Amino acid sequence: MSGDSDDCLVVETKILPDKKWAESLEKEELEYFTKNQIPFEELEDRVVRCTACFKQGNHKQKGFFVRHPGLGVPICKDCKKFYFEGSWRKDDEGKFEYCGWCAQGGDLFCCTNDNCPNAFCLKCVKRNLGRTAVSKIEDSEEWKCFECEPNQLREQRLLFFSILAFWTKVDEKVKKKVEAKKAKEKAKNRSDCLTKTYQLASQCNLISKNFVTKNAENWAKNPNFSDKKVKEQSAEDFSKYLALSQKNLNQLKQRFLESVDEDLGASKKRSEKLTEIIEDLDSISNGHLEAIVVKKEKVKFQVLQNSSDEESTPKANGKKSKVPEEVQVSDTDELASSSEDEKDSDFDSDNIEKEEKSENKQQKK
Ligand SMILES: [Zn+2]
Ligand SMILES: [Zn+2]
Ligand SMILES: [Zn+2]
Repeated sequence: MSGDSDDCLVVETKILPDKKWAESLEKEELEYFTKNQIPFEELEDRVVRCTACFKQGNHKQKGFFVRHPGLGVPICKDCKKFYFEGSWRKDDEGKFEYCGWCAQGGDLFCCTNDNCPNAFCLKCVKRNLGRTAVSKIEDSEEWKCFECEPNQLREQRLLFFSILAFWTKVDEKVKKKVEAKKAKEKAKNRSDCLTKTYQLASQCNLISKNFVTKNAENWAKNPNFSDKKVKEQSAEDFSKYLALSQKNLNQLKQRFLESVDEDLGASKKRSEKLTEIIEDLDSISNGHLEAIVVKKEKVKFQVLQNSSDEESTPKANGKKSKVPEEVQVSDTDELASSSEDEKDSDFDSDNIEKEEKSENKQQKK
């Protein structure tokens, strides 16, 4: 606000955008703000009020609060609008007759700076800075107003600064989410050999997982679990699962090699090499059944070591058979066809896409 005429209109267009404003802060204040910025989480739980009308508002919603044009503190939109309404009349001494904060009249403290026309009302000072601040102003002969010495409002300005940072962070989060979604969509439509393979492998995992989970649940509910006959029958069911798993795994392997050839052109040498890697069980013998600790969903590649010594056949003993992630690497199958227990079926590529959503993607690399 500048004012040489008696009445002056405060023109909004002069106000810096928030970003520019933040950049234009004095070095010292900026350092203070950066150092003391209110953390995101803390701000999330905080109650924030308009510093002019003192109404509570939703500071998490971008743009709910705006920057006070002269003070750099948060105010609501209504108060900002009001601030710019009408003209700012001055008294005989050249001081505004309205509070430079809330734009209302009332008991005003005038800035003792000769060049400054500002005045601030008692209510605003008291509400925002407390009674002590009021007394301090009252007692002092000279008082430089909040615009002349913005440091007096450091905490309120810090609050606005922090809210700005909060919005920026929210924006970034949203942007990241959108980008991730886009990338995912894009990846979904790719047809390179590895995308295809991972989709297929994911489907295999899902089939396995569903089978095991369901059967494990049923077994846990089975009241006759100690009955020898029942156990034998269930063991047979599980054996079927292993057979199907292997079948699926074989298919996966075959489809994988085919996809690689389709994508890169056939190469006997490469196929042999891949096959060699696939069959080199020692190379990935980092995990063995008894060593597997199930950590939430996050399990890396692990090979099951069976109590006997068959290689890749996962021979889960009852206790562990529930764990889907162990199974995932080695067994997968068209369980679909065989087992009534789970929902997904064939190995068709069209199916794969459908499954994609629901599967847990542990091996996106
Ligand atoms: Zn307000
Ligand atoms: Zn006021
Ligand atoms: Zn002043």
